[in-house]
Parts: sequence; structure tokens; C-alpha cells
Amino acid sequence: MSATLLESTDTQRHELQAAFRAFGTVSEQLSGAFDALRDQVAQLRAELSDANAGKEHLAARLSALVQGLPGGVVVLDADGIVIEINPAAVQLLGEPLLLRPFITVLEQAAVTTGASPEHTELRSGKYVNISRRELGSGGEVVLLTDVTEAHLMRVFLTRQQRLLTLGELAAGLAHQIRTPLATALLYASQMALPDRSLADLRRCAEKTVGSLKQLDRLVNDMLAFAHGGAARELVSVSALLEQVAQWLRPALRKGVRLTIRTQAPNLTVRANAPSLVSAVLNLATNALQAARADLDLELLARRSGGRAQIIVSDNGPGIPAQVRERIFEPFFTTRTHGNGIGLSIVKSVIEAHHGSVRLADSGAFGTGGATFVIDLPAEETA
Ligand code: ADP
Repeated sequence: MSATLLESTDTQRHELQAAFRAFGTVSEQLSGAFDALRDQVAQLRAELSDANAGKEHLAARLSALVQGLPGGVVVLDADGIVIEINPAAVQLLGEPLLLRPFITVLEQAAVTTGASPEHTELRSGKYVNISRRELGSGGEVVLLTDVTEAHLMRVFLTRQQRLLTLGELAAGLAHQIRTPLATALLYASQMALPDRSLADLRRCAEKTVGSLKQLDRLVNDMLAFAHGGAARELVSVSALLEQVAQWLRPALRKGVRLTIRTQAPNLTVRANAPSLVSAVLNLATNALQAARADLDLELLARRSGGRAQIIVSDNGPGIPAQVRERIFEPFFTTRTHGNGIGLSIVKSVIEAHHGSVRLADSGAFGTGGATFVIDLPAEETA
């Protein structure tokens, strides 16, 4: 072998050794990096599994909470389809629930829908309060609370209250009946006396009939009171005001201007129409009786949130501050020929419709006279 060849083999060996050393160093570095990476992955995996365990724990707790809630929980997707329920919801609404439109579920489970979400009557005989909240995802969560006991208690109390009022009315009624009855008896007995002229007889008959009519009015008022809560139907509020106007127009004297205004033409209430008509008529008649000559009388129907309001306002003399508190009391009257039953009947009829009636603050409607506000639950129509 020549010297040159030996030299070149030596150089190659050195280069190879250097390459192996470099390779060894890089391999060691790589293996170190790989170990560090593996440790990091293991740590991340441990952290992730901790986080997952936390989330699962939270989800399990939430689900147990929803399942155990005494109220019904129904989750709807963006199209109003039921996608989640809890056992209380099944108990209240019945099955099937899942994957059905909530509106259909409610139509089948409830006796009436939309009337008053605070006490919807279900076919099962239960009453529920329905509250709905939008979810960020576009869906909705519906919470159904069983308010049957509270509802029954309210019905019971209203009945008790009516009985109590009826008792007071009966006591006062005896007084009211006595005067016209005594007058009728007196004139009727005078008619039986001998040698009465025809004119005398006619006068006695007129007086007798007048007193009997007074008694008849009393009986009718009492009947209206007693029937305040009878059968209900869907009634359009504007049609109702039209009926009031029909009754009222023949009684309007010269100088009285009657205006009927309806701000919500589709407004409906569930009501005993004749009772409600006579309640509004009562308020309007009071306005006619209170005013001497000119009078602007307005009947207004409007929606206020989920409520229907009928506002009867006049620009008559108004109601003095010292009697405002007393006008709804049975037999309270400031009129010579009044019996003081009118407003207590209005109150009783409206309360039997789950509504309220109040005298608005004087000047609230800018008429200067008296303004009564009837407030009733509005019924949704399709
Ligand atoms: P009555 O009409 O027989 O007096 P109500 O119970 O209907 O009985 O009314 C009670 C009282 O309320 C009336 O006597 C009157 O003082 C007062 N009142 C009611 N409505 C009006 C009104 N629109 N304007 C002035 N006073 C009124």
C-alpha cells in the first residue's frame, strides 16, 4: 500500500469518528428533549384528566340538581322543541315530552293556555306557574312551578271574603229594604180605604210602583253580586265596550259626550260578559249621576303588559279626598237616592274575574273628574 493511500484512509477514519461523536451528542440531546417532552405530555394529560374529572363532577352535580328540583324544568332548542326534561316536568305535563314542540305539549296538558302564566290550569287539576328564560344558545328554559295549593287557598279566601261581604250586604240590605217596603205597604193599604177618588188611587198606585221598583233594583244588584263569578267565555274587550255603549246611549241626556276608544282591537278576556258589561255600565252610570250638566265620558280599552285595562273616566266633579277611601264600601253613598251598592258590586265582579278595580289618582288622566281603572288578565288569542 502506498503512503498516499494510507494517509487518505487515516483521514477518513478521523472524519468518521468525528461524525459518530457528533451523532452521539445529537442523539443524546434528542433523547433528552424527547424525555422532557414525554414528561410534559404526561403532566398535561394528568392535568387534563383532573380538569375532565372536575367537569364531569360538576355536570353530574348539575344534572342531579335539575333531576331533583321540585319544579319542572323543560329545555327547548331554538325551534321550541323539547330537548331536555326533568321528572317533575313529566309529572306535571305527562308524556311524551321529548322532541315535541313545547307549544303542542302545553296545548294538550293545559285547560287554557296563555291566559295567565302565573296560574295555568292543567288537565290533571293542578295549577302551574310558567316562567321562561332565553338561553344564550338560542334555546329557552321553561320552569314550571306547582302553585295548586296557593291557587286553592286564594280561591278559598276569595270565597270567604265574598261570604263576609255578602253577610255585610245582607245586614245593610235589611235597612235598604225597610224604607221602600214600608212606603209600598202604606200606599197599598191606603188604596183599600173606602171612598178614594180615582186621582188618589192613581197617586197611591204610582207611589207603590215607585217603591217596588226601588226594591226590584236592589234585588237585581244583589243578583249581580251573587253571579259575579259564574260561567266564563272569551270576550273581546272592544265588543264589550260596544255593548256598554248600546245600553248607555238611550240614557244619555243632552250635553253628555260619550267616547269609546280601543287602543288594542284584539284584546280579549275570559269573562262572564253580562256581569262585566254591567260592572262597566255601573261606573259609567255613576259618572252620569255625579255630573250636573255637561259631561265628557270616556271608555278606553288598552293593553298593559299581560293585562287588559278598561278605563272609565269623566270630567265631572270628581271624588273628594275624604271619601276616596270609602267609595267601595257596601252601602256607602253620597247621593240622596243612592244605595251605595254599585261600586262594591263592581269590585266583587272584577275580583271574581281575577282582576282589580281602583280609583286612579285625581288628575291622573287629565280629565279633572273621576277615573276608574279595571285591570283584568288578558287572554291571548291565536
Ligand atoms: P251609589 O251610586 O248608589 O251612591 P256607588 O257604590 O255606586 O253607590 O257609589 C258610591 C259613591 O261613590 C257615590 O255615592 C259617589 O259619592 C261616589 N262616586 C262614584 N262614582 C263617581 C263619579 N264618577 N264621580 C263622582 N263620584 C262618584
